[in-house]
Amino acid sequence: MDKLNIKDLSPKDIEEFIASKGLEPYRSRQIGKWLYQKDASSFDDMTNLSKELREALKESFVLDCALELSDEQVSTDGTRKFLFELWDEKRIEAVLIPEKSRNTLCISSQVGCALACKFCLTGTVGKIRNLSPSEIIDQYILVNRYCGDSVTNIVFMGMGEPLDNLENLVKALNVLMDTNFISLSAKRITVSTSGIVPKIRELGKEVSVNLAVSLNAPRDELRDEIMPINKRYPIKELLKESMRFPLPPRKDLMFEYVMLSGVNDSIKDAYDLGELLKGIKCKVNLIPFNEALPLSYRSPSRDSVLAFQKILMSYGINVRIRKSRGTDILGACGQLAASYPAKSATIKARAQGARL
Ligand code: SF4
Repeated sequence: MDKLNIKDLSPKDIEEFIASKGLEPYRSRQIGKWLYQKDASSFDDMTNLSKELREALKESFVLDCALELSDEQVSTDGTRKFLFELWDEKRIEAVLIPEKSRNTLCISSQVGCALACKFCLTGTVGKIRNLSPSEIIDQYILVNRYCGDSVTNIVFMGMGEPLDNLENLVKALNVLMDTNFISLSAKRITVSTSGIVPKIRELGKEVSVNLAVSLNAPRDELRDEIMPINKRYPIKELLKESMRFPLPPRKDLMFEYVMLSGVNDSIKDAYDLGELLKGIKCKVNLIPFNEALPLSYRSPSRDSVLAFQKILMSYGINVRIRKSRGTDILGACGQLAASYPAKSATIKARAQGARL
């Protein structure tokens, strides 16, 4: 049987392995530090572990990078899209969005996606498979190293519905947040969901991170049309569950609203959304649709976006218009499909130089 990649283990899994060997719990913290803070490339690098423990680790696990960074595209606005190849030659993408005070990495949780939202290219592919915890974590590790340790925030808004891969998502989140592992603050991590209601509840029992709900319509009949998941979990249920989610201190629930011209961007839609969200402590991000073939939806006019924002603000809602980033490289929201050919030998060489 193939050995498991040790980076597929959560901190708790490693603790259990250590306990099964009759060793002290602090050994698992040492292993976490070697893996994620001291960049060990083999178990032999872990020099403060006993020889017996290193041998036991070698017997049970491998220590490999789960991805190969195979290409990068840079947008005229500085957004960078990374293509990764997986062990089975499947491909996923991650997007780095540089801003004044932060560099946000948008990472993928699945190859393809089963949720089939009508405005999303990933949804046209269908679900191919879940990513393992190490495939999720290594997107962050590889890009962060490649970009000189400059990634400050992570959003799970790339390919896939993170809550459709809950077990691996939770393991990856625990590695990202544990202070003896990657040690990223929960405030800097956002999980975005299309609204699998029972899984929102389950996620909240496991971790506290920022939650973004991809809402995109103020009424069920419209949401049913553009997001099939709404037929199972309608808006009322979704809002009720989302409002119970344990957010990090001083953080607000987020609602994403992709604006599709002539579909969900009318004045009535804005008033209906205002009525729906008034009184909820939240932030709304309006995202003008990024046109991408073969999808036939169109971007809304600037005027309709501004009018929509104004109406929401009249309800006391904190609303901002999300600037489209990386549209020229199909790196913007809803445009990820991992469909472009891998081509650059240079990036492979640079990525291999980034030791894992
Ligand atoms: S928007 Fe998200 S949940 Fe919907 S199809 Fe695309 S990747 Fe899946």
